[in-house]
Amino acid sequence: MKIGILGAGQLGRMLALAGYPLDFDFVFLDPATEACAAPLGAHIHADYVDEKALADFCDAVDLATYEFENVPAKTAESIAARIPLLPAPVALTVGQDRLSEKSLFDKLGIPVPRYMPVATREALDLAVRNIGLPAVLKTRRLGYDGKGQAVLRKPEDLDTAWAKLGGQALILEAFVPFEREVSCLAVRGQDGEMRFYPVVENVHRDGILRTATPQANDPLQRHAEDYARRVCEHLGYVGVLAFEFFVAAGPDGGQLLANEIAPRVHNSGHWTIEGAVCSQFENHLRAIAGLPLGSTALRGPSVMVNFIGDAPKNTALAAIPGVHIHHYGKTPKPQRKVGHATVTAASDAELAERLAQLQALVAAVES
Ligand code: AMP
Repeated sequence: MKIGILGAGQLGRMLALAGYPLDFDFVFLDPATEACAAPLGAHIHADYVDEKALADFCDAVDLATYEFENVPAKTAESIAARIPLLPAPVALTVGQDRLSEKSLFDKLGIPVPRYMPVATREALDLAVRNIGLPAVLKTRRLGYDGKGQAVLRKPEDLDTAWAKLGGQALILEAFVPFEREVSCLAVRGQDGEMRFYPVVENVHRDGILRTATPQANDPLQRHAEDYARRVCEHLGYVGVLAFEFFVAAGPDGGQLLANEIAPRVHNSGHWTIEGAVCSQFENHLRAIAGLPLGSTALRGPSVMVNFIGDAPKNTALAAIPGVHIHHYGKTPKPQRKVGHATVTAASDAELAERLAQLQALVAAVES
């Protein structure tokens, strides 16, 4: 089976690495010159709105999916009219706009931080009067890794934030003094069967994910699964969906507040390659290809650490037991995700010891 992937970044690369053993081949469509999945398949190097390229892409594959959520909605719809595109474009459109995403969560009874749309400077004043400070002003579209947002702590911050972000559709959200950030990775098959990976605890710095640690028995697992199920069933979703939450203080492990969804495999699920029975990449492919889903069970303690800016040398990484190395083939650049490592161990104590060694290597090179 030939699978088309919109986007050819590291997620596409890891999808292909998981797909070859299943006898799948890959065609990527991506305008980037340095597309790190390109060596793993055919690469149609063209813009997402290039009609000829879209026709070639559809002719070359049996079905398609995305690894990049900012593919223009029109492109997705045009592809879906010709070949199966999974998940369906509606998931992409909802996930591309923070306002429609939050409205959907509201509609499905999923708790969210208070929010208001902001289109003008006056609307920002009104939203701050309603929501209070601190608050976070975000672009509704195209924000990622903490880009396109500003934290408002005092009234003077409004002008600065408006100067930075004004002139585009925005949303103001209450600042959540969260205890933790977690994500839930769900996979839904074509027959509606759903499986969930263990809730992952995520640590960000400068808006970029640094570590992701699957939790063996998270008190919020049941709620996270319930919310992910509501979204997937509502959207008729097929494939892996990542759902990110803030955990606000409260009884019974705290309260989940929905932040955002990504209609694709996700950085907080990279640990599943070695840490789960069937990885998020394989499960996404199984789902879209109509195969039975694989087990999402944890194999044992594991943690993923991103390489940001640059990666430690293999000689040093490989010397730490239980470290699984993933370079993405990208040129080092400040704030760029160039790879990751997943550490596995037989016990939590052993994991902590190995993680400390890895963190020391990462701290020495990253930016
Ligand atoms: P996002 O692009 O929405 O995932 O935001 C990137 C990061 O900014 C999150 O992972 C949080 O660490 C922080 N952040 C975003 N929104 C809020 C919020 N409403 N309250 C507190 N922190 C936030």
